[in-house]
Amino acid sequence: MSKSLQAIRGMNDILPEQTPLWRYFEGAVANLLDGYGYRQIRMPIVEVTELFKRSIGEVTDIVEKEMYTFADRNGDSLTLRPEGTASCVRAVLEHGIAGGGQVQKLWYIGPMFRYERPQKGRYRQFHQIGVEVFNLDGPDIDAELILLTWRLWGLLGIRDAVKLELNSLGTSAARANYRAALVQYLSARLELLDEDSKRRLASNPLRILDSKVPETQALLADAPKMADYLDEESRIHFDGLKARLDAAGIPYVLNPKLVRGLDYYSKTVFEWVTDQLGAQGTVCAGGRYDGLVEQMGGKPTAGVGFAMGIERLILLLETLGQVPAEIARQVDLYLCAFGEPAELAGLALAERLRDQLPGLRLQVNAGAGSFKSQLKKADKSGALFALVLGEDELAQQVIGFKPLRGQGEQQNIAWDALPEHLVACLKQV
Ligand code: ATP
Ligand code: MG
Repeated sequence: MSKSLQAIRGMNDILPEQTPLWRYFEGAVANLLDGYGYRQIRMPIVEVTELFKRSIGEVTDIVEKEMYTFADRNGDSLTLRPEGTASCVRAVLEHGIAGGGQVQKLWYIGPMFRYERPQKGRYRQFHQIGVEVFNLDGPDIDAELILLTWRLWGLLGIRDAVKLELNSLGTSAARANYRAALVQYLSARLELLDEDSKRRLASNPLRILDSKVPETQALLADAPKMADYLDEESRIHFDGLKARLDAAGIPYVLNPKLVRGLDYYSKTVFEWVTDQLGAQGTVCAGGRYDGLVEQMGGKPTAGVGFAMGIERLILLLETLGQVPAEIARQVDLYLCAFGEPAELAGLALAERLRDQLPGLRLQVNAGAGSFKSQLKKADKSGALFALVLGEDELAQQVIGFKPLRGQGEQQNIAWDALPEHLVACLKQV
């Protein structure tokens, strides 16, 4: 026999035991975003490679070594999207929906692909929920994005486990000045830099700031600080954001070394981090990208957004035990029928119940079996109540209503009275 095939390393199945938690999480985010007036957009998973090179930047980790790129049959170079912002900007431009200053508040959900080393909290196919806002340039909208994520952490019961880190990268002109000062400082100390940082000094020097090498970090202690190079406009914006977070009572820490891995950010950058997941602690990250739309061929358009990693947030919910018990139960009722006449009547009764009680979660026993084995299946299904239909019940047009979770004794209920009885019983749980 040949060996059975397996999923690709770092690309996971999400099994039936897991999907209730995913749906709970995704539902909570969707409801929250509806409440703030954000609208969903759905983009393709595959785009031309050029899109990501132009938006994310040629000398970033993603573009240099993490993209799944392949030739289409006609020779075009295509890439499985590593993130959503580039596709979202492409879509907005293509359809002209953010032209003439038109405000768009958008969100998306779906898989992203990066060729990374798989480990806890880091996969090659992972899932994000992202939010992007176009044509609003004030700090109030940066604050709104942070406020709504803060509300989400509250709804999910994980507020105490996450911390907001905040920085401003300034306008691209300010950043260019800072970059020059940083390069000058580090070039004079080249022999003290690690190999990775030496390479980045020429290509992407700001990334050296978040180097994990202790010697490099020590060297950075006396390096020029971004905050000293912020232009007036960025400083006012950043102060405005901090004032709003203070007013809303949202705690944050300023992290001058927060630069983010993508080229397109300007002004605000932020990350929500947790210390509960080991090395992969960033659960949500984003920032402002006022230059990106123009860089992608559009008119100058303000942009700001974030993306959260669903796997990491699911892991966090599990780690903290914040998984609501009721989401695991997928069956309310389990119908057991004995003998073919009862089975036929049971099927019709079940359909009538579904008509009368939309949303009812009713499983009908498939296949025969003894009384005992059927009730065992009913119990295993997780249902709250079993409905028992045998020859006697059929003759009397009643059904045995059996609580499975210690909510009292079995009793016979007339078929006509069943919907009302059910509603009352389900209300009590
Ligand atoms: P990291 O520093 O962890 O590599 P990143 O800066 O590359 O993250 P972003 O591109 O900002 O991440 O993506 C936003 C979020 O998506 C991250 O904060 C994280 O929660 C999640 N994420 C990113 N890469 C992965 C991955 N390979 N596997 C699982 N989740 C991921
Ligand atoms: Mg990364």
